[in-house]
Amino acid sequence: RPGDFVGRIGGDEFVILIDNPRDLKMIQDLAQRIVTAVGKPIELDRIQTKIGASIGFTIAASSDATPDQLLIEADLALYEAKRGGRSQVCAYSNALAEEIETRRILFNEINAALEEDQFEPYFQPQVYTETGEIYGCEVLARWRHPERGIVPPATFIAAAEEAGMIHQIDQIMVEKGLDALEVFMELGMNVPAISVNASPPTLRDPHLTDRLLQAVHARHLPPSVLTVEVLESTLIENDDDVALLTIENLSEAGFSVVLDDFGTGYASMSNLSRLRLNGIKLDQSLVLPVPEPRADSIISALVTLSSNLNMRVVAEGVETPAHFETVKRLGCDVVQGFGIGRPMPQQALIEWYNEYTAQQKRAG
Ligand code: C2E
Ligand code: CA
Ligand code: CA
Repeated sequence: RPGDFVGRIGGDEFVILIDNPRDLKMIQDLAQRIVTAVGKPIELDRIQTKIGASIGFTIAASSDATPDQLLIEADLALYEAKRGGRSQVCAYSNALAEEIETRRILFNEINAALEEDQFEPYFQPQVYTETGEIYGCEVLARWRHPERGIVPPATFIAAAEEAGMIHQIDQIMVEKGLDALEVFMELGMNVPAISVNASPPTLRDPHLTDRLLQAVHARHLPPSVLTVEVLESTLIENDDDVALLTIENLSEAGFSVVLDDFGTGYASMSNLSRLRLNGIKLDQSLVLPVPEPRADSIISALVTLSSNLNMRVVAEGVETPAHFETVKRLGCDVVQGFGIGRPMPQQALIEWYNEYTAQQKRAG
């Protein structure tokens, strides 16, 4: 409208000043129209091209608001809009500012925690259903926080991922996990392997296979001691060619790759047909309801499917003897869950192992 003002403030950033907007909805609608208009295909030299825009906005609620303050607010909203994906519109609010501040503090803390070496592995045992022998341990990250104590991954994985730091945590778990495996082997424990979790950024690292090979070779171990757990959602969300290639490379190098949280994604079947995987891990949401006819028949069908595709089935979330007996009867190869052992520090796992093997012996 006459009276509105558009300016370029640098690079690909523009500011629009709207004099006396009627209400929030009017700005929202306008922003949406701009995003749509900018997103229209353009023909350049007979080639169709497309650009996009993200918009963050704020309102000067009183005359106290300075231009600098308004620009900061709009910029925070813009940052939030970009986080939400492409071509989004986002409004500034106090709640948003608080959220961003909390996140910023967490980022800084994670950064410091990496410097102070505060991430450590916990180990959760996995055992064969048939023989009771140890199949391996899953390495699960914990943050030993100086004030808050042991912080579980739910608090920091997403933040670390967003801050671009998850890759480092994943790598630390590989190094420390393999160190622990060496200790287990030196003690004569029959723990043949560990499995580690690979976040989407880790999986997108073209050097992942080389780095893992280095990590095992440095300890004179074969790649078969390391299983990489990949989230089904990683593959679906991005339809990620790099990640798919990494998975191929990992298998070729001799590492095992399993699909984690199986049953929580949607394109499971197509992933199974195009990837070379060593196994699937049934999510605990599939396991917790058993024994129950419908839940049982889903697991049974997945076991049949997996064995036809030459894949192992690990049942997660095995909490009770009834869970164990049911998934064993249904043909799952390996179990993991609180009913077998909780995730625990290295020393506790050694103690768990001694107790477990003694009990296995007694049971004959
Ligand atoms: P996940 O990979 O699915 O790991 C299994 C989670 O289920 C663990 O939670 C474990 O403590 C929990 N769990 C095991 N048995 C049972 C059971 O019987 N019942 C119930 N209710 N839960 C059980 P945790 O350790 O809190 O880890 C949560 C998630 O954080 C993991 O889920 C994984 O996605 C992620 N994570 C953990 N460590 C790492 C890591 O080093 N790197 C990456 N990228 N992600 C990690
Ligand atoms: Ca996992
Ligand atoms: Ca899982």
